[in-house]
Amino acid sequence: MKAVRYVQAGQPPEVVDLPTPTPAPGEVLLRVAGAGVCHSDLHVLDHPLFPGPFTLGHENAGHVAALGDGVTGWKEGDAVAVYGPWGCGRCHTCQTSAENYCEQHASLPSLGGGLGSDGGMAEYMIVPSPRLLVPLGRLDPAAAAPLSDAALTPYHAIKAALRWLTPGADVVVIGIGGLGHMAVQILKALTPARLIAGDIDDEKLAHARALGADHTVNTRDSKRAVEEIRGLVGARGAAVALDFVGAQPTIDLCARIVGRASRLTIVGLGGGTLNYAANKPPYGCEVSVPYWGSRTELMEVIALAEAGRIKADVETFPLEQAVDVYQRLREGRIHGRAVLVP
Ligand code: NAD
Ligand code: ZN
Ligand code: ZN
Repeated sequence: MKAVRYVQAGQPPEVVDLPTPTPAPGEVLLRVAGAGVCHSDLHVLDHPLFPGPFTLGHENAGHVAALGDGVTGWKEGDAVAVYGPWGCGRCHTCQTSAENYCEQHASLPSLGGGLGSDGGMAEYMIVPSPRLLVPLGRLDPAAAAPLSDAALTPYHAIKAALRWLTPGADVVVIGIGGLGHMAVQILKALTPARLIAGDIDDEKLAHARALGADHTVNTRDSKRAVEEIRGLVGARGAAVALDFVGAQPTIDLCARIVGRASRLTIVGLGGGTLNYAANKPPYGCEVSVPYWGSRTELMEVIALAEAGRIKADVETFPLEQAVDVYQRLREGRIHGRAVLVP
């Protein structure tokens, strides 16, 4: 089968032929329908985070192809999303379904498929346990793959911020790419807050408006962007800022536009640092650094999509074009989410 492999940091991925894997006892073989192309993969490709080689793709959905010995409750052909952050499955936190915060994370063999273990940018993928499968109902698995990260990650961040997102509150979303375009939809589906979207790319801002953002601000000139956002939110400041970039200028911008007793959530892994001084961020601001989401939250995301309340804007490409697709993502030339389809 064809697979997109991480080889070594600093090198582009390679598309190679591999034998189709066989599920060991307790495992499930997935026939991949789609694997989302996440900006985190660029961090994985650029930095020596995991020893290679392994197959990329941590945002996966498809159909059950075969069950390893002892696996029950699923049958060939079932449409599923793969829950991506693979925890130990046994600790207290994993038992609450929040494997994204597994207590044993430091001693796990990898963070998940595509993040140290073989992932979904291939025709088939091994899922180590059926507990990591979430039924997709009548959703098309290729189109639904981004729900497992591009939607789950902002959903988890937004759910934890709901008590701030009341009528009359302002929420600022920075970075309207794969995660951000889902965040806009999730905020519109779940909250009455007024939504201000920021990006450095006017096309992404037009996308945000099409998805329901109330205001958009180009943040290329951060000083002007801070003034513009402050003009919109007034003395109260933004109740919530969600940073899907996490670079120094976006973290600084978010810290300057949130109000007192607000919430500042940094999701992006853009290498920035949050500076602290008295009243900066303002007093009462809660800072959050969420990672991915829980299994039950993935079920909630899928339910939102099944209800037609959110939908990933997907550009599909064949696996063979992976290297080019990563380059397009790096250059900001992907609209919504790219999905590789074997
Ligand atoms: P993406 O490339 O699809 O989107 C990034 C968006 O940010 C683009 O629209 C781009 O124009 C915009 N942008 C870039 N620099 C900007 C700047 N300085 N100011 C304003 N906008 C800017 O990326 P994605 O897949 O949505 O991922 C976003 C970030 O979230 C990445 O850093 C990724 O690694 C991270 N991430 C974190 C988690 C987590 O659990 N914490 C999960 C998934 C992804
Ligand atoms: Zn990701
Ligand atoms: Zn655990």
